[in-house]
Amino acid sequence: MLRHLVYKIKSTGPITVAEYMKEVLTNPAKGYYIHNDMLGEKGDFITSPEISQIFGELLGIWFISEWMAAGKSSAFQLVELGPGRGTLAGDILRVFSQLGSVLKNCDISIHLVEVSQKLSEIQALALTEEKIPLERDADSTVYMKGVTKSGIPIFWYRNLQDVPKGYSFYLAHEFFDALPVHKFQKTPQGWREVFIDIDPHVSDKLRFVLAPCATPAEAFLQRDETRDHVEVCPSAGVIIQELSQRIALTGGAALIADYGHDGTKTDTFRGFCGHKLHDVLTAPGTADLTADVDFSYLRRMTQAKVVSLGPIEQQAFLRNMGIDVRLKVLLDKSDEPSMKQQLIQGYDMLMNPKKMGERFHFFALLPHQRLQGGNQQTNACQSKPSASPVAGFGELTWQ
Ligand code: SAH
Repeated sequence: MLRHLVYKIKSTGPITVAEYMKEVLTNPAKGYYIHNDMLGEKGDFITSPEISQIFGELLGIWFISEWMAAGKSSAFQLVELGPGRGTLAGDILRVFSQLGSVLKNCDISIHLVEVSQKLSEIQALALTEEKIPLERDADSTVYMKGVTKSGIPIFWYRNLQDVPKGYSFYLAHEFFDALPVHKFQKTPQGWREVFIDIDPHVSDKLRFVLAPCATPAEAFLQRDETRDHVEVCPSAGVIIQELSQRIALTGGAALIADYGHDGTKTDTFRGFCGHKLHDVLTAPGTADLTADVDFSYLRRMTQAKVVSLGPIEQQAFLRNMGIDVRLKVLLDKSDEPSMKQQLIQGYDMLMNPKKMGERFHFFALLPHQRLQGGNQQTNACQSKPSASPVAGFGELTWQ
């Protein structure tokens, strides 16, 4: 990867941080995500669904709750962006099976958007029924399809644009932080974009440089920006616009969870290797590269086509979703001390403000009519339909 980047910079000049991130993470031949399984204790980082089954279960409940609040459509697609090892989708599907009586007349299909060949294989192994062979076609926009263990059709794509535009619930957990960011530094001469160049003093070493003049990506900056260093993720903007358009047109919802901020942080671009911070310019392709998600930018990119909720801290979202009750049920059911210990440790990791509780946030996109109550089934006792609160973003009340 380093040789490839040095060659690229030597032939066409310094590259933007966004181009660097894109090459390092998703280059089809050598990209970090393409051929690696980086998740879990033995990998470079661990995510909430890998820590505790409760996380995915509560998200499964969230989707069912939104499906019910929006009038129990006869069919929906569950679309997950960047499904990792398929653990989260697996936990959600288990909830769908357990609540089969609620969903019994609903036609569900699963659509996974994944660039990684390696991870798509791991997802297929985790989620599909072995006895039904997978269909593969590398040249098609649907590069793999099969049937889940609970008999639901499942499809794989490389781009969200290729997923059919039907009524859908979208999920992105730790997906947006992997998308490429442009970086800008305020200087006495105005904003200057940060580029990556070869260090003239050390061969095969990369270094950051500032562009000598304004660059086109500067158009992404806000006129009234007060920070002196800013990261902008145009690919996230494109995806949010696509999600907003789809949700405004057909209904459904999107749930986005990631670490991030609401337009306040500055320099968050960093690398992780073996669960430790790693210099982003050293040994590219061997470590994960990530930047905090700017939720204020995502909100702007909806262009008010949909309503956005959050960001709300993970700790508050999971508590509102009933994590304490679910933990108690699982602890009561389990006889094994080691299992109990694991459940408690997992809960602490997800909820503790010093661990993931405050760093991770939930953010949702919903059609306007969902919050005006216009799309709901009318309750026989009510003269006017009123919108029910959105689970997780306020306290959940069981009816
Ligand atoms: N959601 C999972 C995995 C997070 S890791 C979890 O929480 O455990 C990021 C995931 O996004 C991986 O599956 C990675 O292969 C995928 N990914 C990264 N960039 C992508 C892109 N541009 N398009 C589609 N998938 C991408």
